[in-house]
Amino acid sequence: MAVKTGKQYTDSLRKIKRNSYILGQKVDDIVDHPINRPAVNAIAESYEIANINDMKAFAAPSSKLCNGPVNRYNALSESVDDMLSRGEMERTVGYRTAVGCPRSTGYDAINAVYSIAYEVDQKYKTPYLERFTRWLKRVQENDLAISGAMTDVKGDREKRPSQQADPDMYLHIVERKPAGVVVRGAKAHQTGAVNCHEHLVMPTRGMNEAEKDYAICFSVPVDAPGLYHIYGRQPSDTRKLESGGSIDVGNSRFGGCETLMVFDDVFVPWEQVYICGENEYTWPLVNRFAIGHRASYGLAGGGVGDVAIGLVVAMAEANGVAHDKIIWDKIADLIICCQTLYGLGLSAMLKGKPTTSGIYFPDYVLGGVAKYNATTLPFQMLRITQDICGGLVATMPGEVDLRHEVIGKYIEKYLRGAAQVPTEHRMRLVRLIECMSLGPLSADLLTMGLHGAGSPYAQKMMILGDYAERIPGLRDLALYHAGIRDKIS
Ligand SMILES: Cc1cc2nc3c(=O)[nH]c(=O)nc-3n(C[C@H](O)[C@H](O)[C@H](O)COP(=O)(O)OP(=O)(O)OC[C@H]3O[C@@H](n4cnc5c(N)ncnc54)[C@H](O)[C@@H]3O)c2cc1C
Repeated sequence: MAVKTGKQYTDSLRKIKRNSYILGQKVDDIVDHPINRPAVNAIAESYEIANINDMKAFAAPSSKLCNGPVNRYNALSESVDDMLSRGEMERTVGYRTAVGCPRSTGYDAINAVYSIAYEVDQKYKTPYLERFTRWLKRVQENDLAISGAMTDVKGDREKRPSQQADPDMYLHIVERKPAGVVVRGAKAHQTGAVNCHEHLVMPTRGMNEAEKDYAICFSVPVDAPGLYHIYGRQPSDTRKLESGGSIDVGNSRFGGCETLMVFDDVFVPWEQVYICGENEYTWPLVNRFAIGHRASYGLAGGGVGDVAIGLVVAMAEANGVAHDKIIWDKIADLIICCQTLYGLGLSAMLKGKPTTSGIYFPDYVLGGVAKYNATTLPFQMLRITQDICGGLVATMPGEVDLRHEVIGKYIEKYLRGAAQVPTEHRMRLVRLIECMSLGPLSADLLTMGLHGAGSPYAQKMMILGDYAERIPGLRDLALYHAGIRDKIS
């Protein structure tokens, strides 16, 4: 079964006994835990989309590895069309969930590791690509959800991995055995990881000669002994534990989640190791994972932007201002933000190029610019939603007040905006804006926009690095137009 349904995915999660903790409690059934369920649903949606006839063209491509359709998130990126289809997938998941898909890191990790394993093998005659391809075939055939685990906890940011007071601040090999390696460390902020079947683990930065034990890339099942998933808190997360209502959570169907993933001496068999000690390949690996992911932020942001646009229109109707031209000026700003993200992500993919392995990656500068804009535009977009919403986004009484036998009638009467929109509908719209801009979804829509795939300065460093060769020529160009040089060099 190469393309599973959402239900088959959630059923498969129930069979795995992972070591996960939510709010200090060990949780065996993560699928039906109310705090986690919306995040499970978001991944399930990526499975559903691959089964929708109109969407199969981009969501369920054919794979040479298993001779049939696979989920886009497990596919190799072998052409510009593949990248554009991945973009379509991101936008679709974005608007259907209002949060985006955690399997996105899996896609970028799969493609980055494949291309690097190929290159390492070319140089050292290692067996990495063969192993990796065997793993990927199994992943595709079983339609497993994979998380791309890169970010280490990093300790003192001014020090390299080998200089840290505690060597475990970056994940590393602590023991080599005949059958494999033992690794220790922790990966931070792992989106959706607890709801995946396996993790593809990569170094978080370029490693030097002294850091060969940190130059390790491998896959590991989510239930590997010694692997802990510690659930991250999100604003207002415990509202999901309140019984008897669905308004105050904002988005009761979908959500995101991050975990701190601790590797407490996890054994990894050689069959699951795809780089081990080839430190010169760590920087290209990080870069390739990052650029795929950076470009995808634009597309996913565009999808979430679609939700924001619809939301402000509905909110404006509920407030009775839907015909005001100033409101439409703000909506135009929102559309421009949304399409800027989408267009930048798309252009990075359109101008992408193949590596020697045949795997395509987006254009580095355009992808970096897309991601840089994802560090600001979602804030601008959600600022507009809050602006049109009004102050209720931060002051509105709760669903229990609406249902209350004494005060319910006051809520019903005084929280009504335009007469034709029921009070409860207006409250639901306010709560969704709160959820996206201040509540649980803000973790993924705003903070992930800011830091995911690298904080803002990381984009500038990469953009300047890529421009370095072009800058002297551009300087000469300016001198030519200023009449200081006679010709364009
Ligand atoms: C919601 C969310 C989801 C995420 N999902 C994933 C995921 O699924 N997988 C994954 O691998 N990662 C994930 N990330 C991690 C993301 O890539 C990191 O947050 C990002 O790389 C920044 O790392 P950091 O959080 O450790 O912050 P830091 O690296 O500590 O950065 C904080 C600030 O310090 C600055 N800084 C850092 N080092 C230095 C220095 N030496 N000198 C001067 N300034 C410095 C940075 O520019 C930044 O402004 C996610 C992050 C978030 C917030």
